Amino acid sequence: MIINTLLDPEFRYQTMLNKLRDRGCRMTSHRLALLRIMSVSEGHPNATQLYEKLREPFPTISLATIYKTLLILKEDGQVFEIDLHNDSHYDGNKPYPHPHLICSKCGAILDGDDVSFLNAINHEIQEKYKFQVAQSQLLFYGVCQNCQD
Ligand SMILES: [Zn+2]
Ligand SMILES: [Zn+2]
Repeated sequence: MIINTLLDPEFRYQTMLNKLRDRGCRMTSHRLALLRIMSVSEGHPNATQLYEKLREPFPTISLATIYKTLLILKEDGQVFEIDLHNDSHYDGNKPYPHPHLICSKCGAILDGDDVSFLNAINHEIQEKYKFQVAQSQLLFYGVCQNCQD
């Protein structure tokens, strides 16, 4: 399976919204704005970056609300967590495992879209080690195109 484009942000927004509603979450304007950002997940923000973005339009938003919402979305498989050392970044546009490319100069986290080889690796691990893969993280560290000039 090769997916090369962003999923439709409107579809992702509605899906996440429905999941949170199912969980009995009160859909405040704060949460709706958070979902809007997560449905695109430009740059794979972490909780602090989301907080910085949302604090301007919503001065009363708390970091705890953001963490709590992300946790629920994660439990429901609605965001993919990129687990860096003591820092989690999130992709709510592509909530399934996919490779990420991390620039050591500017810190950009880019999508590697082709997940077909990831499925193949998972399958091989299961076969070879009789290990049941629940989740996988594939990170490539290097220098992005912008930072190469
Ligand atoms: Zn860079
Ligand atoms: Zn991603």
